[in-house]
Amino acid sequence: MVVGRQVHGTKLLEHPGGMRGWVRTGEGDGHITAERGLALAVSIADCVPVFMAHPSGTIALLHSGWRGTAAGFVTRAVAAFSILGKAPTELRVHLGPAVCGRCYEVSADVREQLTGHPATRAGQVDLRSLLAEQASAAGVRQISMSPWCTRHDNDRFFSHRAGDAGRQVAVIMRRL
Ligand SMILES: [Zn+2]
Repeated sequence: MVVGRQVHGTKLLEHPGGMRGWVRTGEGDGHITAERGLALAVSIADCVPVFMAHPSGTIALLHSGWRGTAAGFVTRAVAAFSILGKAPTELRVHLGPAVCGRCYEVSADVREQLTGHPATRAGQVDLRSLLAEQASAAGVRQISMSPWCTRHDNDRFFSHRAGDAGRQVAVIMRRL
């Protein structure tokens, strides 16, 4: 299993395999591999775990909070699949448990960065909807979204905004 040091960036680490045990890499908020049996993991509590898979077996996992979303992390990851010859139209993207739009208020500045439109006051944003729009714009057709909110379903999940110190661990692995 591989985990990175998460810094709310857009660095996607490509893993060729040959790893054993639990490997902690340097900075990186996303992982991509085609290696069988190598689990990719990110830790999450309100940010979005973005699961990506191509039928050929190439998989990726991103940790995308508002910074990663504003910086187009999912768009970059779709491009990384394309460079490897994996077409966006063949990708499946799943947006896992994360804070929902009703529970996530951000400053005017952050809203501007996320939507690209001028904002004068704080307001609610739905990170998963924005990520779905970005993935769709990048050519992905199969996009699904978890119904769970880490904050208002806080009896079941850890939520940074709800004051929890704990984190979920999102994992994806190619088995066959
Ligand atoms: Zn919610």
